[in-house]
Amino acid sequence: MIDDHRNAGQRRVGQVKEVTSLSNPIVKDIKALTNKKDREQSGTFMAEGLKLVIDALELGWTIRTLVYAKAAKGKPLVEQVAVKTVAKGGLVLEVSEKVLSSITRRDNPQMVVGIFDQRWTGLDALSPAVGKTYVALDRVRDPGNLGTIIRTADASGASGVILVGECTDPFSLETVRATMGSVFAVPLVRVSAEDFRNWHKKTGVEVVATHLAGAVDYRTVDYSKKPVVVLMGNEQSGLPDILAKYADRLVRIPQQGRADSLNLAVATAVMLFEARRHLLKLDGPE
Ligand code: SAM
Repeated sequence: MIDDHRNAGQRRVGQVKEVTSLSNPIVKDIKALTNKKDREQSGTFMAEGLKLVIDALELGWTIRTLVYAKAAKGKPLVEQVAVKTVAKGGLVLEVSEKVLSSITRRDNPQMVVGIFDQRWTGLDALSPAVGKTYVALDRVRDPGNLGTIIRTADASGASGVILVGECTDPFSLETVRATMGSVFAVPLVRVSAEDFRNWHKKTGVEVVATHLAGAVDYRTVDYSKKPVVVLMGNEQSGLPDILAKYADRLVRIPQQGRADSLNLAVATAVMLFEARRHLLKLDGPE
């Protein structure tokens, strides 16, 4: 694994700050990461849980600060991430449970929290190719929906999540929690509606937009001929005409019953796994 536990303990002696006071300035800065403005200013965000921190480090994300509960001291995996953090120039804090609860705003906080640099991908870095699927979200508002969609994009093998227009922040605590770690695995892009349309024109990706008034059943589309972008509308107002007009397909998911629409994250999952089904046919059975 990352390092030998006993050596790890010795190597980081003197590099760990013990903090028990809620008024400690570092703790205050970390707590401020619950505000979008502070996350943007610092370019960082918080992820909770040892597994997430280990995954993020393995995927090459830059850790700024590792915070762990006193009770986790000496646990081999915690020692190993602490050593890695120090080696990368990050800060390690050993804190009381009271401090952890206050940082994470939870009564039963995770034992480990990591503060990481945010990472955004540019549209031009996506390099669409046949066999790749992306999801684009128009003005997604709900952090839980966005987190669930990032997790679903990861699980369905999608190559990126494109946030179009003013969207909720993928690096908020609530969204990161809902991604269950997938925030570290899926490229995230943010663009204006205009830049999205220009990229669509330039790259020739197939934009399959979902709309309650879509003329086409989503199961009749072939998702394997071109790189596909599944475009999803806002939770309240759906897809605006300006985006719907430029889509290559406007599809609907046929429904029964009294509900007038599906939840955004559920509709996205239906679309992404349909696209995946087509792509798996190309590759043969899993
Ligand atoms: N009141 C909104 C409307 O009129 O479009 C409902 C929006 S729905 C909660 C959020 C998004 O999920 C929609 O914009 C669409 O992208 C997708 N969606 C939900 N149910 C759908 C369905 N049955 N067919 C196609 N798209 C659907």
